[in-house]
Amino acid sequence: MINFDGLLSERVRSIKPSATLATSAKAKRMLAQGIDVVNLSVGEPDFDTPEYIKYAAIKALCDGWTKYTEEAGLLEVRKAICKKLREENGLSYEPENIVISCGAKHAIFNAFQALLNPGDKILIPAPCWVSYPDMARLCGAEPVLIHTTEENGFLPDPAQIADAIANGAKVLLINSPCNPTGSVWEPDLLKEVAKLVERHDDIVVITDEIYEKFVYDGAVHVSIASFSERAKERIVVINGLSKTFAMTGWRLGYAAASKPIAQAMAKVQGQSASHPTAFVQMAAITALSAPQDFVQKMIAEYDARRRRIVSLLNEIPGVRCSMPKGAFYAFANFSGVLGRSYDGVEINNSIELADFLLERAHVATVAGEPFGAEGYLRLSYAISIERIEEGVRRIKEALTG
Ligand code: PMP
Ligand code: GLU
Repeated sequence: MINFDGLLSERVRSIKPSATLATSAKAKRMLAQGIDVVNLSVGEPDFDTPEYIKYAAIKALCDGWTKYTEEAGLLEVRKAICKKLREENGLSYEPENIVISCGAKHAIFNAFQALLNPGDKILIPAPCWVSYPDMARLCGAEPVLIHTTEENGFLPDPAQIADAIANGAKVLLINSPCNPTGSVWEPDLLKEVAKLVERHDDIVVITDEIYEKFVYDGAVHVSIASFSERAKERIVVINGLSKTFAMTGWRLGYAAASKPIAQAMAKVQGQSASHPTAFVQMAAITALSAPQDFVQKMIAEYDARRRRIVSLLNEIPGVRCSMPKGAFYAFANFSGVLGRSYDGVEINNSIELADFLLERAHVATVAGEPFGAEGYLRLSYAISIERIEEGVRRIKEALTG
């Protein structure tokens, strides 16, 4: 027998598969077997990509956008991204500051590879998206989690960040609106952190703004890069088309950064993926520049789903869910139902609970543990109200009998 463990790199053995993608794949396998699973696991809009964007891709394909592009992406697409960042986020960039990648995930990966040395510390407010710590580990870097609590709206205290920076961190990651908690950093908090960044020349901020459009109850999304030109030099802004335009499968994201950082990221990309698909890049021009009625309609629908799922979850004895201000996840505290047996199965933690709900109630959720929040479950409401109602009804039935 070959010992493959010995063949695989230590880097790869230090990480886990993505819990979000793994849970969703399991739910999809069950659906393919004819099991009626309510899939509240993956963070993927249920809306289809608008037709005008599809036609733009078809046209680009027919027009011959079928060849390699520059490693940072096509110039005209980078110009469209600069226009978007200027008009929507108040950020001034030139095309040389932009690197287009195969999804925001890939843009983050490139940024980590460009910035993190083995042993470097990266500060990540937690609960956090499952991929950040493992992407950091792939660089040999050390993820340092800054713990936030439900009581504080899952927002960090700037003093926590200041302490962590003083302890020698190289990168601070900000994800607002946040996956999984739905927290949205208020402008005052961002301004305070921008001031901290101004004072520490050796820290770089990576701000993942993929959920920027998904804000509710009057919350506003502001980019931390908009507060200080001095801090902006060391801020990498990450965004993409997956969520805003329901284009998860197209794989298009981008980063905006100072030229030396952008060039370093483009170099990483040039030695790996090369660039994202040429005709997908061209379709991005249409997505970014067309009127955004589709996006507004989608957000209004998500808002209604958000209220419904949170109110239904709070009706389950032992479950508590606060109203998220952003993204499209309910992050519910299920600790009150743990430590008991259901239908003869003892459930002591969030992973066992998510497994039980998938196996017995046929509802896919993601356990809080891989997000750094034991006792919680993440439920995506990027699915119809009817399916949300059915999913939560099944959870309630499984836990109350
Ligand atoms: N950041 C966060 C916080 C996410 O939840 C996701 C998942 N879609 C991504 C980045 C990556 O998005 P994509 O690669 O599809 O653009
Ligand atoms: N980001 C989404 C999620 O958290 C999609 C899957 C992934 O890339 O993690 O479910």
